[in-house]
Amino acid sequence: MNCIFCDIIAGRADASIVHEDDDVMAFMDIRPWTSGHLLVVPKRHAANLSELDPADGEKVFAAGQKVARALRGGSAPVEGVNFFLADGAVAGQEVFHVHLHVLPRTRGDGFGLRGVPRSPSREDLDGAAERIRASLVSE
Ligand code: AMP
Ligand code: ZN
Repeated sequence: MNCIFCDIIAGRADASIVHEDDDVMAFMDIRPWTSGHLLVVPKRHAANLSELDPADGEKVFAAGQKVARALRGGSAPVEGVNFFLADGAVAGQEVFHVHLHVLPRTRGDGFGLRGVPRSPSREDLDGAAERIRASLVSE
């Protein structure tokens, strides 16, 4: 299997590492969307969310929180942080080893999500909730 993030974790590929423990690694994104943009990855390979052990998901999120706190308390001005995770090609996933993007934000940094909010009725929202609840119980 050819996975650039597994190569980084194994020390076979270069990375600018921010944090490493037994379960997760955080390193700088090679093509940052904002200054300080980094990625948190589980060390155990999981191509996508459905393959990810929820325990590893918790560790990735906890490491993201820790790094976000460090970014906010660091020397560079950071006014906010976005977490972003792409699951599936249609969602923008390009590297098929789960990774949490951690994006330090400052006013006017040019980053933004495109999308126009819709205005569904309560009936539509209730219908959507009902369908998702049905999938949850049948899991
Ligand atoms: P995604 O579109 O969510 O799959 O994002 C993949 C991210 O991985 C992109 O932001 C890339 O810039 C980043 N990336 C790809 N290869 C490397 C690498 N060798 N080191 C650090 N970041 C990488
Ligand atoms: Zn991998």
